[in-house]
Amino acid sequence: MRTAWIVSIGTELALGQTVDTNSAWLAHRLRALGIRPTRHATVADEEPDIVAVLRQAADAADLVLVTGGLGPTADDLTRHALAAVAGVPLEEHAPSLAHLHAFFGARGRMMPPANAVQALIPRGARALPNAVGTAPGIAIRLGRTPCYALPGVPLEMYAMFTGSVEPELRAATAGAVLLCRKLNTFGLGESELGALIADLMARGRNPEVGTTAGYGVVGVRINAAGPDETTARRMLDQAEAELRARLGEIVFGVDDETLAVVVGRRLAALGRTVSTAESCTGGMIAAALTDIPGSSAYFRGGVVAYANEAKTAVLAVPAERIARHGAVSAPVAEAMAAGVAARLGTDYALAVTGIAGPTGGTADKPVGLVFIGLRTPRETTVREFRFGHDAPRDVIRQRATHAALNMLRLAMTGIEGPRD
Ligand code: AMP
Ligand code: MG
Repeated sequence: MRTAWIVSIGTELALGQTVDTNSAWLAHRLRALGIRPTRHATVADEEPDIVAVLRQAADAADLVLVTGGLGPTADDLTRHALAAVAGVPLEEHAPSLAHLHAFFGARGRMMPPANAVQALIPRGARALPNAVGTAPGIAIRLGRTPCYALPGVPLEMYAMFTGSVEPELRAATAGAVLLCRKLNTFGLGESELGALIADLMARGRNPEVGTTAGYGVVGVRINAAGPDETTARRMLDQAEAELRARLGEIVFGVDDETLAVVVGRRLAALGRTVSTAESCTGGMIAAALTDIPGSSAYFRGGVVAYANEAKTAVLAVPAERIARHGAVSAPVAEAMAAGVAARLGTDYALAVTGIAGPTGGTADKPVGLVFIGLRTPRETTVREFRFGHDAPRDVIRQRATHAALNMLRLAMTGIEGPRD
């Protein structure tokens, strides 16, 4: 059992009124069983469409999981569609009918007649008990492909998958797993990075390598399918080593390690401190650093110096320098970094000044132009970035935040620590 399709049924899902969280949850759980979800299909409550997608799924995949459409109303059509695909009639399932009567009885109510339909299952199928709600699930073969239909209500679905479906799948897959790891990089665009590892990204390989990108951070995902966890983990480790050898210092972390986490850990290990002076990022670097518990060990403070007067009054940026070069300039970024480092007495300081847009750009200094200053115990350097004159404000600010943290990260690599 290698591949699965996950089919979610509901007009509200197809229309985008409800976000399909069931499929992501199920995909996650299937991975742990070594089963690769290869397609998520979302279908409105229309029987012909449901029948069509179930036929396709049974042809294409080794396993089909369905959620939704098991309720008692006229728009709940999953059981009818399953019967149609299997070519069998629906039949009353006595234990399920008894469960329905008991469910309502326990709440002091008679079962509404409409709910009787929930006790119907296709001939030859198995009913899966619903510990939380009314509708039983349905286990059925569509041709040779096993199919499980589960309730749409997430809590009912979780309980039924965990209680009834997962044990059967685990028995069938005998310890197989699909393990995933992500290497986080900063410094190369997705396509340049992809060119360095094109052979590892070739389709059909195991481990499989792919990339995802956001705000300048490119994640390199590794998925390893193995017969057992030890084997799959070894495959991940080998792939990680190969990727690190190719990508070098652009790799900054693994899985959920952000630039701020990595920078903070390094500062703490070195026993060094940092401060920030931010204009166009408005405190985003300070926020990223202070998001991390324990950051008081290395983060002294930050200044949001937006107006020229604030840069001069708080950070001692010479007014003459702003007048000569403009607030968005390398000399001002340098003075901001030096100013905040002196003011707060830190080993390192980051300073950002730029044009986040959408207005305020000129031909000379377009939107997206950002200068980032970095003060280290040895020197102050400034880098110029151009994040794109048409990039959204949010993108420019996030990318500037990442670029600044990455400059600090690189400045600390290869340094001996802790300081005496
Ligand atoms: P149903 O079993 O189709 O009657 O679905 C019952 C309710 O569960 C729906 O009204 C949705 O609010 C919720 N639901 C159904 N499918 C999903 C899904 N794929 N993801 C999240 N919620 C869902
Ligand atoms: Mg529904």
